[in-house]
This record gives sequence, structure tokens and C-alpha cells, in this order.
Amino acid sequence: MSAQASTTRPVLAEYTYEPPSVERGYTGQTLYVNLSDNTISTKPVSDEMKEKFIGGRGFGLWLLWQGVKDDTRWNDPENEIIISTGPCGGITQYAGSGKSLVVSISPLTNIVIDSNVGGHFGPLLKFAGWDALEIQGKAEREVIVVIDGTTGRVTIEEAGDVPVDTHKVGHWLIEEMAESEKDRYFMSAVSAGSGAEHTLMGCLNFSFYDRKRKAPRFKQAGRGGIGTVFRDKGIRALVVKSGPVRGDSNHPADLERIARAGVRLHKEIHDHDDEQCRMRRRGTPYLVQIMDDYDLLPVHNYKFGSHPETPKINGDVWEARFTQGIPDGCWYGCTLSCAHAVDGYQLRTGPYKGETVIVDGPEYETIAGIGSNCGIFDPDIILEANFYCDTYGLDTISFATSLAFVMECYEAGILDQEKTGGLELNFGNGEAALELLHQTARGEGFGKVFGQGIRRMKAYFVEHFGADAAFLNDIGMEAKGLEYSEYVCKESLAQQGGYGLTNKGPQHDEAWLIFMDQVSNLLPTFEDKAEALHYFPMWRTWFGLCGFCKLPWNDIQPPDNAESEDPAKIPEHVRNYVEIFSGVTGQEVTAEDLITMSERVYNFQRVFNIRLGYGLRDHDDVPYRSMGPVTVEEYESRAERYDKQLRELVGVDPAGMSTEEKVAALRKYREEQYEKLKDAVYERRGWTRNAVPKVETLRKLGIDYPDVVAVVEKYL
Ligand code: SF4
Repeated sequence: MSAQASTTRPVLAEYTYEPPSVERGYTGQTLYVNLSDNTISTKPVSDEMKEKFIGGRGFGLWLLWQGVKDDTRWNDPENEIIISTGPCGGITQYAGSGKSLVVSISPLTNIVIDSNVGGHFGPLLKFAGWDALEIQGKAEREVIVVIDGTTGRVTIEEAGDVPVDTHKVGHWLIEEMAESEKDRYFMSAVSAGSGAEHTLMGCLNFSFYDRKRKAPRFKQAGRGGIGTVFRDKGIRALVVKSGPVRGDSNHPADLERIARAGVRLHKEIHDHDDEQCRMRRRGTPYLVQIMDDYDLLPVHNYKFGSHPETPKINGDVWEARFTQGIPDGCWYGCTLSCAHAVDGYQLRTGPYKGETVIVDGPEYETIAGIGSNCGIFDPDIILEANFYCDTYGLDTISFATSLAFVMECYEAGILDQEKTGGLELNFGNGEAALELLHQTARGEGFGKVFGQGIRRMKAYFVEHFGADAAFLNDIGMEAKGLEYSEYVCKESLAQQGGYGLTNKGPQHDEAWLIFMDQVSNLLPTFEDKAEALHYFPMWRTWFGLCGFCKLPWNDIQPPDNAESEDPAKIPEHVRNYVEIFSGVTGQEVTAEDLITMSERVYNFQRVFNIRLGYGLRDHDDVPYRSMGPVTVEEYESRAERYDKQLRELVGVDPAGMSTEEKVAALRKYREEQYEKLKDAVYERRGWTRNAVPKVETLRKLGIDYPDVVAVVEKYL
């Protein structure tokens, strides 16, 4: 079929527009699509919106705030999915400048989720004329939405035979929607998959066309179940087409200024990546062995931090499996090029058994999650699960952490074959894991329960299997309803806060402080930890306002970074970002201004959570497995370390104590430490002891809008 085939699909709504040129990173308008009544319209981007919310996640939060009510839940028609890059998204001179941010109310947490994703959709959306896409409502029958910036036309079309699973959508896109090979370069689709509609852990896949492989590739907006919202709205795919991307498509204020920063970074990557992280050759899997070496790699549902079989799944293995010699950037100009893939993989299970496919990744989180955390040290099981999670539209992190949880439940006798429908879910059973994955995607058998995520499984196991609720709360690695990403943080109080004192739930993209805190001991006091838990979440938030990838900030470093005044911040790279933001927008800013931009959005998101009925102090609690050893087995595996801590930190002599008594004494101490950390962090952030942003904080940040202040005043 040709590109004209799309015109034979019944068109439910059509909207024409004159694509504006992008000026200094903005088009000045957002696209609103309502699937309930098939309306399409334009909203202006005001100067205040740019000044206060910048773009990306900020625009998403602002639009969502207007679109929902206090009692809106994830599957209400008024919930929205908003996709936006940001003013710097789409530049090609600096590595990692093509990210999209997706915002919605999450089915897992009932609060706002934001997810940062590569692929080409966000930048092409901007070059098609839109700073953000806002989708509301639910389609009566399944639809696709096509945004064609080449003709200035937006349509809602009946989905017809457009496939559901993502790798099929990728092929449909390039075969049916492109008229020429060149067309494929400047189009992108967002899709979920059949698994997203049967679970609460659905992810979105953002496509890009791999010119070397001549094939569609995908990056995932994984966290929080936005793929589930997408399928609940009856969307099968979003498609965007734009004209050719050029180096100046963003029409920045000062292209030279951006290019100078870009050249500095490209040289660093060229000269030093091979001796630092080897991102260009092995990508994020380089982390696997390092985490194991520092006892931070999750093993057996985060009980342990290392395993003798880790070399079977470490970076050496993936460097050999990844196709080398192809620049694997997920946006133009990303010389860090970490978006690797395994080509020619033949599937051996599930509905696509026998097909030869490209597997995007695996990334560190998938290897540590499905691999070591579940005791599976088989790269082929990891690849098979990675491929199917993506094409089914399931978040690999939520899937993996939930799998590790049920495996521990199985080994503890809470589950058995009768309860799992015959699945032997011991740690290490990769074949059972794959079978559970397929069941989960179909919404069948034990997979139906599993797909609801850990928080709901805990309640189900208590109600139906008589499980001990306290034990499940200790070992179920979720907070706020979101499953943990893949780091052991028992020995880093700062990182316990990095996971717990977040807006969206335990995801490392807010703060990753383990090395600073635990390895380098740079955060000895509560004040130090609180300062880090202020600065780094704000800094990392900033990437998502502007359309940046975080990886080129600190997965490559200037060779003299250690001698700089504050090495953990990578000051030279921060200066690059200051230059780029000013170069794109024409506004002169400082490094402190960047933090203030984020602080505004971060506080706004906190208030949003409170508006939705969450977001107070208790909501920042974390499972004890993330803080210390829950079981005798865990304690005794690192008895020397814990005994020493009892003597030196707690002031208790462990001699003569039973292991159960030692576990309890250590627990009391660590839980008290966490509460003290909360106090210190809330104070540093300008919040009350109940985690509510103070009015003076909102005023200082310029977001003391009456409806925002009204939310917090109820708790002051
Ligand atoms: S560093 Fe990796 S994930 Fe980030 S933009 Fe580049 S290729 Fe994509």
C-alpha cells in the first residue's frame, strides 16, 4: 500500500492550519485534540507560560492543571496526555537535545506522572508547528491522530487495520504513511501495545527512523502507565510529519553560541568516552558491573547488591551483542550515541515466535531488573523480555520489579503453583518469567493480577491468600504506587530520599546520589543531604523543561572535572547549558536561573499532587527493603557491615543479640534517620513539616496563583 492508503481511513475530524515558523525555540501555539467530541483547536502560548513553565514537563503540567478537576482519575475522559519537547528540543548542535516529555495522571499512582523519552516525535511536533500536543477525551471507536506539518492538516481517523503492537506500528508507519525514503526521516509515531490495555503499567513507544538500518526504532516513555491511559482513550497511534530538519530549524537567537558549546562537548566525547563510560560502544549497560562492584546491583528483589554470575550479563556481554559501527543516536547530533540495539534477534516465544527483529536496548534498568533482580543471568531471556515488553507497551522497570516481588513471594510460600496457575516463579526461572509476560499482556491467568503492579498485588495477596500485609509492605518495592527503578539504596540515606521524597515516585531521574553519599561520603550531615536533595532534583528537572537528555551531562565528563569547584555538578557542562539556553531563547540567564526555573515547576507539581489528594508527608514513605535488611537472611549476608553499624552508629553492642533483635535495632535507627531526613529536606525546599509548599515559597517563585494558593492553604 502507498501513503494514499491513509486517506481511505474514515476521517472523523479535520483541522487545517498554517504551520508557523519556530522562533527562538517556540512556535507560540499548542494543539488541543478532544477524542470524545472530535474537536481540534489551537491554544496560544503566552509569554507568562514561557517564563514560568519553560516547556516540556512544565507545559504539560500547566495544561493538565487547566484540563482536569480535583477528583479526576486516570481513566476519566478529562484526563489528558500531553507531549512537549521544550525550547531547546530539536537543536542538532549539542548531544542529547531531542527529548520529549509526556505528562498525564497515572493509573499506578493517581497523581501526575512525567516521563522523559527519546525518539523523534517531540521535536518533529514542534517543527510541524506545535509546542505541545494535548489530548483529552475518549474515542468511541479506536482512532489514530495524524499531524501533518507538511500540509498543515490534523486529522482524527478511524484506526481500522492499524496494528496495536509497537513493532508492527513501526512498520505500518514507514510502509503506509511515507511516500518516499526521505519522508521516513521526518515522521514519527507514538504507540503503546496490547499489553498496555490489560495492565496499569503500560508504556509509550516513540519511534524514529534508523537510516543505516532502514528500519523503525523506538524509545520508551516507560514510567507510570501512560501507555495504559493511551489505550484507555482508544488511541492506536499518533503520527507526526514535518518538513526536513535543519541545523537552524529552531531559529535560535544565536546559533554560533550553541555550536561552540556543542563543539566542546563533541570533542570531549570523541577524546574521552572510550576511557570513561564507553557509552558509544556499550551504552548504559556499562553500569551493570560497576553497580555489582559497589554492592548496588539489585539481586533477588533488592535483597542483595551483587552476584557471582553478574559477568554473564555485564557490559562486556552487551558490547559484543550490540551491532557496532553504527552511530546509535536517538536524535540528530547526539555523538554520545548510546541508543544501541541487537540486530537479527530471532524470537522463540509468544505470538511473534520465529520473527527476526531488532531489539532496542537493553538498557541498564532492563538488564538489572529482569536480569539480576530476578536471578536471571541469561542475556537471551533479557532480550526476549525486553522486546516483548516494548512491543506490548509494558514498562520494563515496573514489569521487572513486580516480577522480582512475586518471585520472592513464591519462594516465601505466599504464592505457589496453584495460585500462579502452574507457573514456578522461583528466582532464576526465565522461561516462567516469559510465560508470565505473555499472560500479562493478554490480561489472562495470574498475569491479570500481576499487571496491576505491586501495590494492588499486595492488597490482593492479603485478601485472597491470607498473606502478612506488614511483610509484603516491607518487601514490595513501590512507593506512591510506582515500582522502584534498579538500584539498591540501603546504605545511602540520601538516595532513600532520592527515591522517596519525589513528586512522581521512585525513579532515579530525580536524584541519583548513591556515589556522592555512600561511596565518596560527600554528604555527611542532614543539611548536606538536604542540599543535595534540593539541588539535584531541580537540576534534573531542568532537562525535562527544555528537551534535553540527562546522559551527556554526567555520563561523559571533562578530564579536569575532578579539580573543579563542585565536581558532582559538572560545572563546565552546566555552563554549556547556560550558553545553549541563552543561545536558543535570546534570554541571558545564569546557572542559578536554571535551578529557579525548575523549582517553580517542581513546586507546582507538588501542589498538583496535593490538589489530587496526595503529596503529604506520609505519601513520601518508602518500603523498608529500600532502607535496610528485612530478613535474617539479608542481615546475615552482610553481618559484619551491619554489626559494625550497630556498634558505631546506633550505640548497641550486637554481641549476644539474636539476628532478629539486630534486624529490629537497626530498623528502628534507620527509620528514625529517614524521618529526620524528611524534616531537613522539607525545610530546605521551603515546605512545611507536612511536605506542603509554603505560600511564601510559591510567592517567591511567582506561582502564587489564587487556585494554587487555595490548595496549600487547606494544610497550613
Ligand atoms: S545520550 Fe543516548 S539516550 Fe541521550 S539523546 Fe543521546 S543517544 Fe539518546
